[in-house]
Amino acid sequence: MPHRITKYRRESKKRKLEKRANLLFTSIGVALFLLTVFVSFELYMKDDFKQSNVYKEYKNVQVPSSRVCMSTDKIKVNQTIPIEVNGEMYYACCNKCQRRLEVNYNKNRYATDPYSGNSIPKFNAYIRLKENAGGKVLYFQSEENFQKYLSQN
Ligand SMILES: [Zn+2]
Repeated sequence: MPHRITKYRRESKKRKLEKRANLLFTSIGVALFLLTVFVSFELYMKDDFKQSNVYKEYKNVQVPSSRVCMSTDKIKVNQTIPIEVNGEMYYACCNKCQRRLEVNYNKNRYATDPYSGNSIPKFNAYIRLKENAGGKVLYFQSEENFQKYLSQN
């Protein structure tokens, strides 16, 4: 009899250990899975996520100049590089865009107001996000021109 009890106890102990090991492995599995999700988000989706939030944020309001890369005419999520030329502030998203803007300064500092068709300097334009255009912006001479443009389109 005592022998049997010992055997029973031993088996019950073994089962308990197995259960604990299973729980541990499951926890490690879940932790690894969450880590993978987190790392993927940080690496691949964070920028898209931030980008769509910026699109939402500026959907119906004026876009500040400092949020725009004036070389590619796109709204930017991250901080832009300020470029001062003759007391006028322009912005670029990266060194490459900065160089492009500076090299073609006399051309790139201007944009066409979609309402009046006039060529206007970008630095003091009234900037709005173009609808469904992948973050492209439109430069208007004034808010009034934007409102008129809006009522026509
Ligand atoms: Zn750029």
